[in-house]
Amino acid sequence: MFTLTPLPYQYNALEPFIDGETMMFHHNKHHAVYIDNLNKALERYPEWQEKTIEEIIKNLNSIPENIRPAVANNGGGHLNHTFFWDIMTPVKGQKPEGELLETLISTFGSVEEFMTQFENAGLTRFGSGWAWLVVEESKSLKIISTANQDSPLSLGMTPILGVDVWEHAYYLKYQNRRVEYLKNFWNIVNFKQVEENFKQAH
Ligand code: MN
Repeated sequence: MFTLTPLPYQYNALEPFIDGETMMFHHNKHHAVYIDNLNKALERYPEWQEKTIEEIIKNLNSIPENIRPAVANNGGGHLNHTFFWDIMTPVKGQKPEGELLETLISTFGSVEEFMTQFENAGLTRFGSGWAWLVVEESKSLKIISTANQDSPLSLGMTPILGVDVWEHAYYLKYQNRRVEYLKNFWNIVNFKQVEENFKQAH
């Protein structure tokens, strides 16, 4: 059975960029419900309960067809949110460094251009979904967006940074101003964790 682990920081620790009430609902309600529904979907499939959430999402095509949509949505929701909490931090104003910085510049031209393209991926995702910085199978960096709770892992790509653009992630503070949420997101990105993800993935 999958369980909700506590956030690695207080609900209000990301203020003023993400408010405590949003974080509380997002973690304690939205994320918790994805986990409940994932557990329900896997109730009669003990062989899948033993897998990690990464193994499940990488192998969605092997999941029994009758529960596959529920596992994609709720398993993806569990995986994406677990990932998301870790790539944010109360240690504000971090910047990319080292090999990640070099690769961002060689891939996108500059950090500013990378940030613009990433924001744009989040801004142009119609409806609910995510924007991602991923490492492709070829080991190169790429910006993509996915709908709903679809994970880059199901597409053979490894996410190293992601931002939730479901309205539940920002509506209480930003209402319809997704662009402002995306611009403020940079203040709380845990680039130390993103660098770690990058090292693991390439
Ligand atoms: Mn969310």
